[in-house]
Amino acid sequence: MRVFLFGVDGLTYRVLHPMMERGLLPNFQRLRDEGVEGILKSTTPPVTPPAWTSIATGLSPSKHGIYDFWEYEQSENGPIPHVMTHRKGGKAIWNVLSDWGKRVVIANVPMTYPPEPVNGIMLSGLMAPEMQANVTYPTALKEELLAEVPKYHIDINPAVSCGQRGDVFVDVLEMTRHRNAMLRLLLKKPWDFFFFVYTGADRIQHLRWDEIMAFHPMAVEYYQMVDEGLGMVLDELGPEDMLMVVSDHGFQGASRKFYLQEYLYRNGWLQMQGSNRTRAQLFGMVRAIARSLNIQKPARQIYRRLRHKQIEALANENHPAILPKIDWAKSRAWVQSTSGELAGYADIFFHDSVTEEEIEELTKALKDLRDPLNDQPLVIEAHREDAFGNGPFAPAQRHLVILSGENTSIYTQLGRISLWETRGNGHDVSTGIHHPDGIVYLYGAGVKKGTTIAPTHIYQVVPTILTAMGVPLPEDLDGKPMEEPFEKQLTAGAGTGGSELVKQKLKKLAARSS
Ligand SMILES: [Zn+2]
Repeated sequence: MRVFLFGVDGLTYRVLHPMMERGLLPNFQRLRDEGVEGILKSTTPPVTPPAWTSIATGLSPSKHGIYDFWEYEQSENGPIPHVMTHRKGGKAIWNVLSDWGKRVVIANVPMTYPPEPVNGIMLSGLMAPEMQANVTYPTALKEELLAEVPKYHIDINPAVSCGQRGDVFVDVLEMTRHRNAMLRLLLKKPWDFFFFVYTGADRIQHLRWDEIMAFHPMAVEYYQMVDEGLGMVLDELGPEDMLMVVSDHGFQGASRKFYLQEYLYRNGWLQMQGSNRTRAQLFGMVRAIARSLNIQKPARQIYRRLRHKQIEALANENHPAILPKIDWAKSRAWVQSTSGELAGYADIFFHDSVTEEEIEELTKALKDLRDPLNDQPLVIEAHREDAFGNGPFAPAQRHLVILSGENTSIYTQLGRISLWETRGNGHDVSTGIHHPDGIVYLYGAGVKKGTTIAPTHIYQVVPTILTAMGVPLPEDLDGKPMEEPFEKQLTAGAGTGGSELVKQKLKKLAARSS
């Protein structure tokens, strides 16, 4: 059996279903009618780097070492961030399948830079520098791909995805047009396993959520382009092939904001560095005064200038971390990364001196917090570091990861006047944030038709595909194969494929040892 894994970053039924009901996405509709549909639960936290890496490996973050866009080295002067572009350990599905002699095509999967030697080809995805870098295996493949699709891009300009300039719809449509051309080209290559990822959905959903929900024509055009890509894949499938469509996390609109770092400051958990408190407070004051005098424009310009500096940094090095300006020696709990602001969570780090009782106290206090506007709890899920699994890259520090309630994002800026705010004042650009419920479709050989399945987990993608392909499972996987989508129970290594695979494996081992 061949398997195609079709990934779309941030894809959610909240967008798909209304568009399908209007008949706009015929190929997704076909999967719904002739395959199975379900929710795919994301990693903790539900953010792109760990989520795609767990989809690719079947391993928890403690085994692949990816928790965020950065990892933090501890030093006396506070944490030093290092941007991550590749998992630190664990085999990806393409390594396992390559070992078994299967041909793989891996393209645009996030966190695959530098590209790895595989039995087939790899084109790096998100977090790779653009096409000027060495982003393909084999290296010479890049010239061949660019000759056919010269305008192929791995991602859109960071300034556009931050909402600072341009129109995200325009850039994402342009990128996706070339991505579909790349898919068409790569589909001519031989493959047993094909893994291809679209990333534009996440980009437009962060900035233009409300317009997407209102069927903005350019939004419809985007999802139709992805649907067209899906159609290309469906056309390629034979009766023995299976297709799986996944997203790394879901999405939701978010109009309410909670300032968690400010909350930690006010409750004595963190101290700010020297004069920063006054400076941060001053900006809060400027905003409040501007609002009361109804002269928001100058305040907006101050913010724009501040943010522009951030964009310059982004342009220099695609993903710089913005660390909070806190007194690291005196702080006991803090949020280190801004990733959760757009991803619906906060990852709270604790100083070694904090007791377990104190962490429990904070957890309870946060769980008790309610939005004064609608009485909705701030926290829908709270996890300790064991949610990252057990492995060689388990974090040395203690963590509390909270997921925010519906329609609420958790911000890290300090010096706010109010802990709760409604989006829409001044510098806000984000209208959509992640949700832990992603999507999954299965379709093709052995798969039930027109069925909805119970929620499954991202860790189950790899074991399901390997089992369907008759490849024995590596021992350290964190999930079990899905059973509900299939008409008959799958058995690993069984059937005609099994003995053939064992022969291939033996042949390969013999070739290596000779
Ligand atoms: Zn995102």
